[in-house]
Amino acid sequence: MKSTVRRLEQLMYKTDLVPLDGRKKAWIYHHGILPTISWDFMMTDFNETTINTMERCVNKYLKKWLNITKSADPSILYRGAFGLSITSIRNACLTARTNTEITLCTSKDPIVRLTAKRRREKDHNASSHNTPKRLKRAVNDLVFQSQFCQSTRTPGDRRGIGARGTANRVRINKRSIIKRVKEMSDEEKIAKILSLASQSQWTNWDEVIHTDWKWNEMLYGLSSRMLSFWLNSVQNTLPDPVNLRRWGKQKTAQCPLCKWKNCTLQHILCSCKVALEQGRISWRHDSLLTIIVKHLKESKVKHDRDAHSCNSDSNLIQFVKKGVKPKRRKKPHTCFWGQANDWKILMDTRQKQYHIPPEIASSNLRPDICIHSTKAKKVCFIELTSPAEENITSWRIKKTEKYLGLLEEARGNGFKAYCRTIEVGARGFVSKPSLNVFSLFGFNEREKVNITKNLSKTAIRCSHFIWINRESSSWSHPNRLID
Ligand SMILES: [Zn+2]
Repeated sequence: MKSTVRRLEQLMYKTDLVPLDGRKKAWIYHHGILPTISWDFMMTDFNETTINTMERCVNKYLKKWLNITKSADPSILYRGAFGLSITSIRNACLTARTNTEITLCTSKDPIVRLTAKRRREKDHNASSHNTPKRLKRAVNDLVFQSQFCQSTRTPGDRRGIGARGTANRVRINKRSIIKRVKEMSDEEKIAKILSLASQSQWTNWDEVIHTDWKWNEMLYGLSSRMLSFWLNSVQNTLPDPVNLRRWGKQKTAQCPLCKWKNCTLQHILCSCKVALEQGRISWRHDSLLTIIVKHLKESKVKHDRDAHSCNSDSNLIQFVKKGVKPKRRKKPHTCFWGQANDWKILMDTRQKQYHIPPEIASSNLRPDICIHSTKAKKVCFIELTSPAEENITSWRIKKTEKYLGLLEEARGNGFKAYCRTIEVGARGFVSKPSLNVFSLFGFNEREKVNITKNLSKTAIRCSHFIWINRESSSWSHPNRLID
């Protein structure tokens, strides 16, 4: 055990000395150093103290490489939701040990099985975290799930969520057991972070889509400064005035712009009066809006092209040879755009405003996007908000209520009217209901993932720029960021 710890420390130290970007060093840890020592994990049952020592060493270097505040909870590096999902030493050890244990228990050799059983019984009184006990708990959980949490639908029944309800039956095999063991360790981590009030706010963000960072995007999608900004912003560990006061580095927590006395990250990114007046927040909002409108226009063009090819096909008579089954015809698209060709997409930005056409409604309200067609007698209002993640739900309700009267009026004038909201948080998290808007306009799954990533990346870039300019009183009115 000692030699493994020493080897790990040496490898981490050597990696630290290499003149590389910190993110690449983290990559080396994940893909180079961990596999090197995982054989030791399989062979030896490491005790808690040794695992803790190794974790401390790895945490120290990873935090340094990714520029995370020292006091931050390290779980952000390892968790899948709202984190980077790098494999931790603990998880690597757990996986390896569980693997060994399963291999021994299911061995074809009776002597090996018996030895494993004896060892399990001997370890019975050891700490509650040892591998056989964990394994037993994981298997029990899975047995319980397979008996009680199964779908009650018969194969022919297609009601409810997902057409293939009976296919996702809980299976008990090596893979599912290892997965469950990992989940249990994650649950322990979340239980631990809940005791840190200011760092655990993300646990309340139920409505947002989890960003799933791949190594590729981590290394090349964002700059290292932006990644570090994002990581620290999720756990509220950026050096904003309130945190600086908490860490004892300054006495007051005044906002440098508006002199508000409790200046948090949320205040800087979303609610500072001066920033609002100068148009810093609306710059982020308008950048996001431009991206959405760009994607909507693309979807319109694609729809027109598809509809055209569909129409030209349907005019031809398709003869079918004797004995050959006829091909199924493509169903025509039934998304929002329909058959009309006079669609107009209006956008409301800080620089340029529009008016709702009087035939739809006579109102001075202007939702961020208005898409309408006089031929189809259809109109859709889309409102975009870019609040702090904590306030996404309340903003959605507020914005929906705001346009109820407008909807009624448009419907009274014979239009089929919709109102939808999109929320992109200041830290780059897109709310789940926003996806319905994209579905309405006929985006497929891949396009939806694409636009979500695009929006969250732009939100992070804009927020980062607002953050680094938090102390300068002038604002240069940069161009909108369009990816
Ligand atoms: Zn302020």
